[in-house]
Amino acid sequence: MGQKITKKELERAELFYKDQRFDDAVEDWKRALKRVRKPQDRFQLCGRICLALCDVGKYREALTFAGQQCEIATAIDDATYKADAFFNIAISNEKSCEFAKAISYCKRTLQMHPDKAVLSGKINLCLANAYAGISEFRKAWTNYVRAMDEAKSTSDRVLELQTSAKMGTLFCRLGDYESCTAYCNNALELLGDLMDDDPDLKYRRQVVVQIAEAFRKQGRLAEAMDSCEDAMKIAMRYSDRPVQARCLYLFADIHRKRSDAERAYPRYESAYSIMSEIGDRVGQMEVLGGMAKTAVLQRDYEKASELNNKALDLSAKVDCKLGMLRCHARQQLLNERQKHLSSSLDANNETYIKKLVQEMELFCGVCGEVIGQNPERLEPLSCGHFVHARCAPHLARSTLGRAGRRRPCPACRSNSSRNPALHLT
Ligand SMILES: [Zn+2]
Ligand SMILES: [Zn+2]
Repeated sequence: MGQKITKKELERAELFYKDQRFDDAVEDWKRALKRVRKPQDRFQLCGRICLALCDVGKYREALTFAGQQCEIATAIDDATYKADAFFNIAISNEKSCEFAKAISYCKRTLQMHPDKAVLSGKINLCLANAYAGISEFRKAWTNYVRAMDEAKSTSDRVLELQTSAKMGTLFCRLGDYESCTAYCNNALELLGDLMDDDPDLKYRRQVVVQIAEAFRKQGRLAEAMDSCEDAMKIAMRYSDRPVQARCLYLFADIHRKRSDAERAYPRYESAYSIMSEIGDRVGQMEVLGGMAKTAVLQRDYEKASELNNKALDLSAKVDCKLGMLRCHARQQLLNERQKHLSSSLDANNETYIKKLVQEMELFCGVCGEVIGQNPERLEPLSCGHFVHARCAPHLARSTLGRAGRRRPCPACRSNSSRNPALHLT
């Protein structure tokens, strides 16, 4: 009797999952989990629940199921199970902005997995996302490239589209919106190959909202609004809280860009409340930044400073160096407007900014300018450093007739001589 019910629940859960009704699938899996005894089956169920919870933004709860997997793996003393459990812990941590933990669990998975090939591309992707979270762009990029190579060599279309979309996100952070859009469009193309009942279609709304953000950052507000409305509609249909929050943030940003603070504020607030509920602290940090800019729009510099400090606090907590840099830069502008503030504050900001740029290696090795200050086309080098696309031709080796060969990356070389070219103006 019990077995029969369980089997039915499991079949129904699969159907829910195919329909992207992740919450409903999780409820059935949880009920089944109460009746299933065999450790291996319990392990699989916990894994499904963990990943589906990540899909709906319940990252902290996901972590508890990854923890249960760990206990089961330890009890049956199986190395593959342990590695799989560690990887799910890594994924849940990356989603909840615990980037250092995610990196450490990814590395442990890589070390201990008896059959590394099975997960390696996915681990590289998770590692890359975590490194991007703490703004270590060079390590992020090299891991994305590894994930992409693995996806292509194993014809793993889903890994390829996930990686392509995340590469797009990375370019967006670095201010190269053209490359961002190109990588996102590549992901959309790969999504086009999926069947209508494929749960991996969930990635489409994430990609569309990323494209919206790239439009927004380029000042193409009407297009940004269209894409964002598309993503929001689908996110509502599937109760996708993370994407809903992202859309609300972008709507607010678009209104702010149109100097409409009245419309911007409530949307920032809604985005903020969803993000704090799901634990997306990087998102919260971005929202606070947007709110600070809205306060500037209203010439309420005190409020702007207060919001900016909150954003700085959060970015420091999750170790998002790019976020910290933006907050310091914003504070510098605010100090200029509030002339009564002491100039020692400015000097402090300057020191922090220089230190962060150096830590992130956020300068073009050729011209020495800081990357991401202005929107610009970038080119990644094989070491993972980025240079401006306009500077890349300078790396072509023109001497001695060795056509097609490249000079070594100037950033790597200058780092080894401890003399990074840095200009901050
Ligand atoms: Zn350059
Ligand atoms: Zn380099």
